[in-house]
Amino acid sequence: MIIARTVAEVRAELRPLRLAGRRIGFVPTMGALHEGHLSLVRAARQACDYVVVSIFVNPLQFGPREDFHTYPRDEPADLAVAGQHRVDMVFSPSVDEMYPDRSTTTVAVGTIGDVLEGEVRPGHFAGVVTVVAKLFNIVEPQVAFFGRKDAQQVAVVRRMVTDLSFDVEIVTCPTVRAPDGLALSSRNSYLSREERTRAAVIQRALGAGERVLRTAGSREEAEKRMWDVLISEEGVDPDYAAAVDPSSFGPPGPHGPILLAVAGRVGPTRLIDNVLVEVPEER
Ligand code: AMP
Repeated sequence: MIIARTVAEVRAELRPLRLAGRRIGFVPTMGALHEGHLSLVRAARQACDYVVVSIFVNPLQFGPREDFHTYPRDEPADLAVAGQHRVDMVFSPSVDEMYPDRSTTTVAVGTIGDVLEGEVRPGHFAGVVTVVAKLFNIVEPQVAFFGRKDAQQVAVVRRMVTDLSFDVEIVTCPTVRAPDGLALSSRNSYLSREERTRAAVIQRALGAGERVLRTAGSREEAEKRMWDVLISEEGVDPDYAAAVDPSSFGPPGPHGPILLAVAGRVGPTRLIDNVLVEVPEER
């Protein structure tokens, strides 16, 4: 497995492979790899000839009061697990390598980046798409793999790919969960035992919202039900509980699936999750 630290190394390694017609699959991550990340690696391994995983805790997508400095980092463990999963290259650059000369150009997201996560975390999605655009330009993959756990991120990245004509296929993979339903996340390591137990309320809230929609309840009823379940748990401070269109993140239309999305703090730890609900008949 190649461990690349610089843009030049990545390009030197991948250009000949691309010219030889090899299909390059790319999994961008912030490290602290867990089974959720590894499900993306497996999907890439299956679909592609060559698998690149990036590990980069991107300062641009963290707000000033967020956890950039304390975000879990364990590169030796990540490299070991990547090797075990037959990753061909890990790209693990420094912040200076990714943002030399105090770069000032960023990618603007538009209104989809202003709601839900974007409203709670102003500038977050501009930071995400800027780094994803850079990584796509560096790796030039044919396919890139993202997790549905970060559903709004997927929608924002898909928009960027369409709007800016990136020549890359975006594949999304299902959310990997713990046995009690909690979505795996690098941030789960912040949770105390008691908070970890409380965090299961997120899954209960989504389940309750889904039941409302399946029994012909309205979008507003589903949102209220999810919110009520979240606030019923002590020590949980919700940011939002929303039912939206999965592509635009605006109000859902009368047909098609509805995305239920929740976010909030369990103690000091911020967690997000979502579920896609296929509502069969006309609403
Ligand atoms: P992160 O390292 O948190 O930025 O995540 C890197 C990629 O892994 C993103 O595409 C995430 O959506 C995906 N991911 C994170 N957690 C999970 C999970 N529990 N299941 C599936 N994909 C995940």
